[in-house]
Amino acid sequence: MPFKITILGSSGAVPAYGRLPSSQFIEIKNHYFMIDCGEGAQLQLMKYDVHMHRIDHIFISHLHGDHYLGLMGLLFTLHLNRRATDLHLYSHKGLDEIITTQLRYSKSALNFKIVFHTLTPEKQEIIFEDKHLTVETIPLSHKIACSGFLIREKNKPRRIDKDKLPQGLLIQQLVDLKNGADVVDQNTGAVLYKNEDLTLPPRKSRSYAYCSDTQYYEGLVKQVQDVDVLYHEATFTQEDEEKASETMHSTARQAAHIAQQATVKKLLIGHFSARYKELSPLLNEAVTVFPNTYLAQEGNTFTIDE
Ligand SMILES: [Zn+2]
Ligand SMILES: [Zn+2]
Repeated sequence: MPFKITILGSSGAVPAYGRLPSSQFIEIKNHYFMIDCGEGAQLQLMKYDVHMHRIDHIFISHLHGDHYLGLMGLLFTLHLNRRATDLHLYSHKGLDEIITTQLRYSKSALNFKIVFHTLTPEKQEIIFEDKHLTVETIPLSHKIACSGFLIREKNKPRRIDKDKLPQGLLIQQLVDLKNGADVVDQNTGAVLYKNEDLTLPPRKSRSYAYCSDTQYYEGLVKQVQDVDVLYHEATFTQEDEEKASETMHSTARQAAHIAQQATVKKLLIGHFSARYKELSPLLNEAVTVFPNTYLAQEGNTFTIDE
């Protein structure tokens, strides 16, 4: 099953040098999530051949324009494309009012229903859950209420080892094996085969954390401990640290320090300030602290293997 993160926008507050404001598309277990929806996000979906009608949940970190101003355009396009299925929108208080106001003044009623979910500021909470995965919020430290998102697969079942499977097992016995139980005689209840003798360990549960926007905030380390991939904003270089703390953003080195403390496997940095034409100084700075760092640039897809 794929777990893929496609970067649609990597820019900070304003677009610069072909970079667009924050937005990402996540494909996991037949779910299609969008995280943040900066200006131009729908054009990026088209450019990178992502089927926008598939998106079923959109998570908005906070209500600074660079994280949601692409939403209205996307919603109207989905409407004109005759989307009929519900769309779930998660954000801090206010987004429902912003959207309904725009719809009211354009005398439009969307073909599909938007289900609004309001996030609780400064609280870690599970906002989506199904059989396979959860999405929880990560409280961040920014100028207004802001939450990151942690997508985590649940523990997976052991896998049947086809090479060891004896002939003639009943369907119910196979189901039991998949569910972690031993194979028992249907009449007597006696154990015929132990589960661990016929199964392989489960595949690993994968995780992705999105942390933007935030100033350097060690409070998030515990929650993202050991994740496979951490996306952390890196708006500035260390040279502009003063600017970072003034605007409640992070430097590339600070992002790397968070990754290092949380012992994540891979760090992606983004939300780059328009003051940098070249991004290599940001990458170089992060890599000195946390070597497995990548620039999250438009069109890049990062896959997390099982
Ligand atoms: Zn921002
Ligand atoms: Zn912001």
